[in-house]
Amino acid sequence: MGQSISLLGSTGSIGRQSLDVIAACGMRAAALTAHRDEARLEEQCRRFRPILAVMTDERAAAGLRVRLADTGIRVASGPEGLLEAAALPEAGTVITAVVGIAGLKPTLAAIQAHKRIALANKETLVCAGELVMDAAQAHGVDIVPVDSEHSAIFQCLQGCTDRGEVHRLILTASGGPFYGYTPEQLRGVTLEQALKHPNWSMGAKITVDSATLMNKGLEFIEAMRLYRLPPEKISVVIHRASIIHSLVEYCDHAVLAQLGTPDMRLPIQYALTWPARTAAVAPPLDLLSCPPLTFAPPDEEAFPCLALAKEAARTGGTATAVLNGANEEAVGRFLAGEIGFCDIPALVERVLAAVPAVQAPSLADILEADRQARAALRRLLPGIPSN
Ligand code: NDP
Ligand code: MG
Repeated sequence: MGQSISLLGSTGSIGRQSLDVIAACGMRAAALTAHRDEARLEEQCRRFRPILAVMTDERAAAGLRVRLADTGIRVASGPEGLLEAAALPEAGTVITAVVGIAGLKPTLAAIQAHKRIALANKETLVCAGELVMDAAQAHGVDIVPVDSEHSAIFQCLQGCTDRGEVHRLILTASGGPFYGYTPEQLRGVTLEQALKHPNWSMGAKITVDSATLMNKGLEFIEAMRLYRLPPEKISVVIHRASIIHSLVEYCDHAVLAQLGTPDMRLPIQYALTWPARTAAVAPPLDLLSCPPLTFAPPDEEAFPCLALAKEAARTGGTATAVLNGANEEAVGRFLAGEIGFCDIPALVERVLAAVPAVQAPSLADILEADRQARAALRRLLPGIPSN
């Protein structure tokens, strides 16, 4: 049996594709975690036989204990269970595929336990990128990105020993389902339309983030943190086909790109096998049947989330945690049908203006900024209690 992996968020979109890769590459799932979906986690546990299964929701954990009573698989619960899975001695690698700031503490726990991190949970780096990257450096831990754009950049940076040679990172963006819409057209869009991404099938939160372009804003900050580059060295280009996953421009103006079919299993696999490459799980790219590879600038007026994220990145400190907390809360409300699509950027902007940024923040400062951002957003919603 090969590499042993703790998979945080195994029932989600990245989690399920990670299990495909784990099975195809002959690796072992040592721990699997989910939030509420006990039926799917039971099914995964019966197939992959982990040492530990975790449900962060206590009631679901009680249900899973009953379901797995005949298996001998240990079931843990709550946020502590997630931390236990992150630091499990039997796992060498942790895939962080939970959604939202819930991924932050487990990522830090995995770093402290000297695991390789295959990082899908971008919110962790958006909220606490400097803290997390410093901890990884201090513990000699590799953080290998799973996000397709950052994996592409990571691949294009292989062999680059001097970051000073990098002139610019170019993140590609599909533009989402509302590419080309005017602000007036965006006012009428529905939740159902926002959940239909043209190229990727993903969890609900990131699908909405892709439609508002907040996803690209979060990825802009993720790239700054991962590659320790200032905002001036990162740009975004709309590339509708999602074939070129991102590019690196060097100081001699050579531009390196990574291409592939839009299939997350390739970046997941590379994050697990790097620096080696192993036989493919994702299908090959047929250049002759590719859609045209086009490029256009993003429309930051119609999609203000990208500009808001860049502004928070320039402010620094806890501003990016405020941005993330406000966005998580706003997207949750949009998914619950409580607010409209255009309310998301409007609310995030007002929260950013209302919650002051703390520079050089501690983990406690970051968690407090997240709490304040959510509370400030709730206060802006009339008729909705702000507990
Ligand atoms: P999903 O919503 O599909 O899955 C989320 C997973 O996290 C599920 O296993 C879910 O469990 C679990 N979860 C939800 N809430 C909590 C919580 N509060 N505490 C602990 N676990 C929780 O998300 P995705 O797979 O789409 O995305 C996961 C992460 O990867 C996100 O950060 C996203 O930005 C990033 N990412 C995703 C990509 C994609 O293609 N999907 C691409 C690039 C990055 P349950 O099923 O029980 O609710
Ligand atoms: Mg991405």
